[in-house]
Amino acid sequence: MLEEALYHHFGYKHFRPGQKETISSLLQGKDTLAVLPTGTGKSLCYQLAAYLQEGIVLIVTPLISLMEDQLASLQKNGEKRGIILNGNLSEQEKSYILEHLALYKFVFLSPEMLMQERVLFHLQSNHIALFVVDEAHCISQWGIDFRPEYRNLKQAKRRLNSPTTLALTATATSEVKEEIKNLLLDKNMVEYYDSVDRPNIALTVVHTDDKLTALKRLLANAKGSVLIYCATRKKVEELYQQLKSKYAVGYYHGGLDSSQRRLLQQQFINDQLQFLICTNAFGMGVDKADIRIVIHYELPDSLENYMQEIGRAGRDQHSSDAVLLYQEKDEKIHYFMQKKARQERQFFEYCLEKQQLNNFTEIQEKWLRQINISKKEDFLTQLRQNEMQKQKKLEQMLGYIYFNGCRRSFLLSYFGESLSEIPERCCDFHGIRDTFEKEKEFRFLKPKKDWQEILLKMFKEEK
Ligand code: ADP
Ligand code: MG
Repeated sequence: MLEEALYHHFGYKHFRPGQKETISSLLQGKDTLAVLPTGTGKSLCYQLAAYLQEGIVLIVTPLISLMEDQLASLQKNGEKRGIILNGNLSEQEKSYILEHLALYKFVFLSPEMLMQERVLFHLQSNHIALFVVDEAHCISQWGIDFRPEYRNLKQAKRRLNSPTTLALTATATSEVKEEIKNLLLDKNMVEYYDSVDRPNIALTVVHTDDKLTALKRLLANAKGSVLIYCATRKKVEELYQQLKSKYAVGYYHGGLDSSQRRLLQQQFINDQLQFLICTNAFGMGVDKADIRIVIHYELPDSLENYMQEIGRAGRDQHSSDAVLLYQEKDEKIHYFMQKKARQERQFFEYCLEKQQLNNFTEIQEKWLRQINISKKEDFLTQLRQNEMQKQKKLEQMLGYIYFNGCRRSFLLSYFGESLSEIPERCCDFHGIRDTFEKEKEFRFLKPKKDWQEILLKMFKEEK
């Protein structure tokens, strides 16, 4: 029985929703798409399936930090046969691993690494039991984290004799799901979706002309742990300076070194810090069940990211809050970043045309490498489409902020679902607002009616 295997290998008594179905389908040799919320335990799906079959499990992951988290959790569970194939290995180490692949059970690698001829060559002479694509939404140009190199994964899969494939993601719109299926999975495929809804998280958007005061009010009333998201590292540090004298607060972003990051995570997890200001670098691999409030001091760039970030609240299923503080023009930071990306791409195209291939930035260097494995025009088209997507995602984010109705319904319909039952603490449209105004002495500004016009104007200005 699968439950026995679960207990035997991991010490858990019950599967979380979707896990058992996913594992059974893999064991029947079916390609599987599992869309399960953050924190469900998606990794366990391939891990348990791995223990029940002979052969190597390949896990394609977009970021080294994610590979390290997953390898660390395997090791904590006593597993010694895991390895990360990454660019930091010495030539000698890499050769050793490739020549002794059969010693390993779990091999983590990036799509770029997988596409290397030498890596494919060695993998081909081993039995690959499972081909796992984590964060599979990266394959979609309609997704937020589009990674062009994900689109070549099917070629690699073919070269490996099409092993049973598992695509994992937490946030996928219907469009993204379709693309994952088309580009990665073969016939005989099974899908598992769990609702993205988190009924224990109440959704509030506060329109205000003084975010800092609003934030302090929230913190003064807060019980339990609070995460405060900003869009940039700079803003994180700025806000930290403004709060540090009065609150038990820390900050976290990708610019800190890994020992600092670990220390802050530990302090937050052990409740030595009640408040943590962070960028979206926080969260991957952090397992804290009792975060009571996730506050956005700046808006995220998309509803997918918003969903991921607020999903860190209330993993213990207790009542929690997601509060987005919005002050007019907050979206400027994202317009600015989008504009910068666009200019970088335009300059890149210009240099390609003129055959000036030196002095590229890091990202341009990377594009150049990708062009070598795909067609130039296709690749550039993808980059341009991706820019348009980002713009659209941001508009949808603003649509949520300015929406005058049930926020939960809005979010769910974005992900192709509908709300079947309004939870007791649903959103600021359904009751929560009164308690905020009463208990927390909050003042909500009336949202601008003509926001779409303001937005259009801003896009024109920015171009
Ligand atoms: P995801 O990738 O879905 O966000 P992870 O795979 O990182 O989530 O797992 C999150 C946590 O849930 C891990 O600490 C994992 O050990 C735990 N977990 C997974 N499955 C179960 C289960 N059936 N019962 C209890 N805990 C589980
Ligand atoms: Mg995961």
